[in-house]
Amino acid sequence: MRYKKALLINPSVAGSYLGPIRPSAGLGYISQFLETNSVAVEVVDMVLGIKIKHLWDKIDKFMPEIIGVTVWTYKYRDTYGLIEAIKKKYPDIKVVVGGPHISTLRRDALSECSAIDFGIVLEGENTFLELCQGKDFKEIKGLMHRDKGEIIYNGDREFNADLDSLPFPKYGKFELNKYFLKEIMIISSRGCPYDCIYCPVKLAIGRNLRVRSAKNVVDEIEYWYAKNYRRFNFADDNFTFFKERVYEICDEIKKRGLTGLDLRCGNGIRADKVDRDLLFRMRETGFNYIGFGVEAGNNRVLGILKKGEPIERIEAAISDACSLGYDVTLFFLAGSPGETAADIEDSVRLAEKYPVFEARFYNIIPYPGTELFKWLKEKNLFLEDPQKYLNEASAFSNKPLFETEELPRGERIKIFKNLKKAENRILKRTIKRKLKKFGWPGMFAANFISVRLIYYLIRHHKNIRGIFERVRLNRTQSGAR
Ligand code: SF4
Repeated sequence: MRYKKALLINPSVAGSYLGPIRPSAGLGYISQFLETNSVAVEVVDMVLGIKIKHLWDKIDKFMPEIIGVTVWTYKYRDTYGLIEAIKKKYPDIKVVVGGPHISTLRRDALSECSAIDFGIVLEGENTFLELCQGKDFKEIKGLMHRDKGEIIYNGDREFNADLDSLPFPKYGKFELNKYFLKEIMIISSRGCPYDCIYCPVKLAIGRNLRVRSAKNVVDEIEYWYAKNYRRFNFADDNFTFFKERVYEICDEIKKRGLTGLDLRCGNGIRADKVDRDLLFRMRETGFNYIGFGVEAGNNRVLGILKKGEPIERIEAAISDACSLGYDVTLFFLAGSPGETAADIEDSVRLAEKYPVFEARFYNIIPYPGTELFKWLKEKNLFLEDPQKYLNEASAFSNKPLFETEELPRGERIKIFKNLKKAENRILKRTIKRKLKKFGWPGMFAANFISVRLIYYLIRHHKNIRGIFERVRLNRTQSGAR
């Protein structure tokens, strides 16, 4: 074994906006896989507000031989800064990086940050393990390493087709009681075969869709169920791609008597991959929340985005989900190429047409490697240097990053402001709807909660959100929705 002890770090930038909601499933997979294969692992999730001094204490105590750091695109320079500080204090410990930013930028990331020893591209489990086990660097697929000042990449590793062979995360090294929610994120599939022009997902996890078996997915739910967890959030990009598998998951949950579940598809599913029967079956099983990646309010803009599904299909799914009692969140992009102010009105109209829980209008972020990014570069339409906005902006920021003939900078600023108002209107409507049954005290509370700052506190303050989630979960379990 080359490295017997590995410390894994999730930098705090990952939780900059939302805080420590739940443990990172990606890091959970890596740590579980290494541990299962006899590498001693410790984890530091800095999203929990861990200070650098505590990180040094942890390193001094554990004395890892290698440190793995997840690099997110957002604020990646801050993560480089953390890596440089680690290397300065512990020059003998090797640093390996992985994550979406590394899979997209590859060699460029190692050129930009000389403190990085190794980079892992795409799926990390086997590459990290082979690195620890001492396999010749040149023979490890998916690995970048340095050789006499040169950055060598050995080429992509084939994606793991057998996801059931990977042990699901048990988070033994995470401080589970410190997260906002008592919720486990489930990754039941990896990959996406679609071509949406703005999406970096396939660059990070590939185009081939691989899925876990229903039995394996429910094994994970059952494991946590025995530990009194009831809330599970599917983080897949294509959870319902194979409808039959979703039916099997529902059957398996029923067969094992796992009742009172609060199941969620928070990452957004494709509307064209559900129908009323499937939504009904999922709802019976305990699915309460669904996000739909709508992106635009008409077929013209959906066509430009290469979303590959018509608006009629999207509307039908939203309507079915709302009528079946789901809390539905709609995700839209604003300011896409070719999109006009009138197109954006179509998006708002669609969002307000159905009794959805929430609608979010995101400033479209051009990520390196995507078709959108290449198009903007070719047309010279950037308003901000990508190096700068990738560090500063997120989908939550409303600063225009590029402009188009249809929507110049000034127009974008106005539209983003109006979209915030539309988000608030929809949220207020939802809160009123939910609290209506409590009469005037409910309406009073609704007006109070609808104030954005108060709502923000409820969502992002651990204790306050904890109270709300406990009340909500009790109601779900007692069938009081
Ligand atoms: S937006 Fe969704 S469907 Fe489109 S490429 Fe990305 S993950 Fe796939």
